[in-house]
Amino acid sequence: MATEPTACNHSARASGPAPGLRYDPRVNAPRSQDFIIATLDETIPFAQPDVGESEAAAVSEAIRSGWLTTGTVTAAFEREFAERVGAAHAVALNSATAGLHLALEAAGIGPGDEVLVPTWTFTASAEVVRYLGADPVFVDVDPTTLTLDLDLAEQKVTSRTRGVVPVHFGGLPMEPVSLETFTAKHGLVTVEDAAHAFPAARAGRTVGGSASAATVFSFYATKTMTTGEGGMLTTPDERIAQRVRTMRLHGIDRDVLDRYTRVGASWQYDVVAPGFKYNMTDMAAAMGRVQLSRAEDMRQRRQQIAARYDEAFAQLPLELPAAPDAGTTHAWHLYSVRLLDAPVDRDAFVAALSAVGVATSVHFIPLHKMSYWRERYDLHDEEFPVASESFERVVSLPISSALTDRQVERVIAAVRSCLAGT
Ligand SMILES: *Cc1c(COP(=O)(O)O)cnc(C)c1O
Repeated sequence: MATEPTACNHSARASGPAPGLRYDPRVNAPRSQDFIIATLDETIPFAQPDVGESEAAAVSEAIRSGWLTTGTVTAAFEREFAERVGAAHAVALNSATAGLHLALEAAGIGPGDEVLVPTWTFTASAEVVRYLGADPVFVDVDPTTLTLDLDLAEQKVTSRTRGVVPVHFGGLPMEPVSLETFTAKHGLVTVEDAAHAFPAARAGRTVGGSASAATVFSFYATKTMTTGEGGMLTTPDERIAQRVRTMRLHGIDRDVLDRYTRVGASWQYDVVAPGFKYNMTDMAAAMGRVQLSRAEDMRQRRQQIAARYDEAFAQLPLELPAAPDAGTTHAWHLYSVRLLDAPVDRDAFVAALSAVGVATSVHFIPLHKMSYWRERYDLHDEEFPVASESFERVVSLPISSALTDRQVERVIAAVRSCLAGT
C-alpha cells in the first residue's frame, strides 16, 4: 500500500521524471522533495479511433450519392464482412446491442427462459435478455482469461436454461471446442458477444464463422473497427438471417432499397411482426468498408503494442493479459492488467497515470455489482469470487492502433515509474 494514495511516490524518489515525460512545475508542483509528477505534452486518450482521410472520403461519397439510409453500400459491407469471417450471412445493424437482441429474438428466447451470461461484461450482454422478458443467469469467469467459466456455467443450468452469451473478453476468443461441447450437451442456443473480437480466430475457427446461432460484433467508436455507432450479426442459419433482416426494420417484409428501387410496386409492403429500428446507414457502412479493409493492419499494430507492453512490464508486479497460444489470432481490443501485491491500489494507480496524462479504463465493473442486476437477482460478491477479486485490481491501458511509438513509450514510462521506480 502506498503511504500517499495517489502518489506512487515510492518510485519517483530515486529516479526523477520518467524518460519521455516533461516535468512542469507550473502545472504540477511537487508536494514534497521526493514526489515528482512529470506532466504531459498531451493526454494520451484511452481509446482513440483510428480513422482518417480514407474514411472521410468514403463517407462523403456516400453522402453525395444521395442515398443515405440502408442501401447498396450497406449491402456491399455485409457481403465483404461475411466473406472476411467465413459466414453464410452478415446483417448490418446500428449497434451490437441491437444484434444481441435480434439474435436472441430470432432464436425464440422469451419469458420464463434463462440465458447464461458472464458477470465480467458490459451490461448490453445481459440487458437484451431482459428486453425479451427472459432472465440472465450470471456466471463467474475463468481467472486467467476472464471469460465464462464453463464448469461453473454447468452448475447453473436448470430446466429453464435456453441460451448462453459467451463474451470473448478483450479480443481473445474462448476455446471453441469446449464451448460447443457444453452448448451441445445442454441443447443451448449460443449467441456470441464478439464486441471485442474482430478480427480474431482460434483453433482454426474465425470468430463470426462458427456454428453458433449468431455472432455479434460492435463498431462503436472505441472498438477495434468503427462506424461511429454500428454492429454486425453473422450467422450460418438462413432462417435467423431472414428474421433479423425483417426485425431490424419494423418487421417489414421487404427492405427499403427493394421497395424504392424495384419498378412497379414501390408502395407495397406488409408488416409481419412488431419489429425494431436497428438498420445501418450507408454513411456508416461506407466508413465500415474502409475500416474492414484496414482491420488486419490495425490488429497487427495493436499486437505489436501488446508485445511491447508484455516485454516492458515483465518484471513489474502485474498480472498481464492471458497470452494467445500459437494459432490464435487475438484481436487485442483491450490490454487489461491486474495489479499484484503492488505498492499502490488500483484507484491510486489510475490516478497516478492520469496525473501524467495517461488515460485508463476499467473492464469491467462486474454486472453483479450493478444496482439493477444486484437487486433484481439478489447477487453477492461471494458468488463471483474471481470477478469480485479481479475487479479490485484491474486496469485497461491504451492500446489503440492510432497510438504513436512515443505515446506507447510514455505509457510504459508512466507505469514503470509508478510501480518500479525506473
Ligand atoms: C461495446 C460492447 C457491447 C455493445 O456494443 P454497442 O455496439 O455499443 O451496442 C456489447 N458487449 C460488449 C462486451 C461490449 O464491450
